[in-house]
Amino acid sequence: MTLRLRKEEAINPVSPSQVRAILKKYQIHCRKSLGQNFLSDENIVQKIVAAARLNPGDVVVEIGPGLGALTRELAKRVRLVLAVEKDETLLPVLKETLAGLENVIVIHEDARKVDFDALVALKTNISGGLSYKLVANLPYSITTPLLTYLLRKRFNFNLLVVMVQKEAADRINALPGSKDYGLLSITVQFYTVLQGSFQVSRNVFVPQPKVDASVLCLSRREKPGYHRLKEDLFFILAQEALNQRRKTILNALASAPNGFKLDKNIWVTLLQKAQINPSRRGETLSIEEFSALTQTVWLYLKSRYLQTK
Ligand code: SAM
Repeated sequence: MTLRLRKEEAINPVSPSQVRAILKKYQIHCRKSLGQNFLSDENIVQKIVAAARLNPGDVVVEIGPGLGALTRELAKRVRLVLAVEKDETLLPVLKETLAGLENVIVIHEDARKVDFDALVALKTNISGGLSYKLVANLPYSITTPLLTYLLRKRFNFNLLVVMVQKEAADRINALPGSKDYGLLSITVQFYTVLQGSFQVSRNVFVPQPKVDASVLCLSRREKPGYHRLKEDLFFILAQEALNQRRKTILNALASAPNGFKLDKNIWVTLLQKAQINPSRRGETLSIEEFSALTQTVWLYLKSRYLQTK
């Protein structure tokens, strides 16, 4: 059977029938491993675009453009969209759905391997830290590693608008002591501030996923809290404390596999100096408390290093 698409249907993948028609035309089998659930609701596309508070001079990086539903709307409003897509089979689709939009560059690459600052500098010919916005309907399977990569590498974006599985959003926004609180909460809250969020029903995707989603609008904190090495220490401490949730913070740190190799009584002193009761569990510590602990451990390690010189 020949598939006859009207011209405007062929270029705008924002309804379930259009998404299905495009998938059929290009014989695309949605890959679960790449989180290929495509948005098929104009209203949600517009809400995501509005959350990004776009200005005509903006540069936007989109991770995973898919069939281009969001990409098209972003491109209509900004100076440049750099769309990073891992799946080669979607490139011909994007060529069609983004036809006529001269301010979109599609980059065929795994987002986890991209130096986003270097990419923006290269494509804008502006070196030296041009800030940009990141927008992504993230593949669910790589939400945690991708967010961790984007934030810990300290890329220079100032706003991050991400769609994630609702359960991942709960973990991102969780508070100390709750069951969802963990390294993902700490990582995202350390680098960003939540400006707003809304929920998205699973019904607006083709194919339909098993869970609902949330869109989070996260602005970058003014400055990363620390010197780079101290920041690494903060995350090592948080990881050790949270990886062993059943242990007290004292036992978790004293038996840390990443090894500070400090005596237990030294940990007691350091925790007390940071005003943290050693018998608390790591998962109850706030970011401020991990920061205080980082500071005492940092000073202790520095003084020990100076003694050995
Ligand atoms: N933005 C589109 C939308 O909203 O309909 C597609 C979103 S779909 C949930 C996720 C997209 O990310 C897919 O196009 C998938 O191929 C792409 N993707 C998956 N892993 C990726 C990676 N590591 N790097 C870049 N793109 C990736």
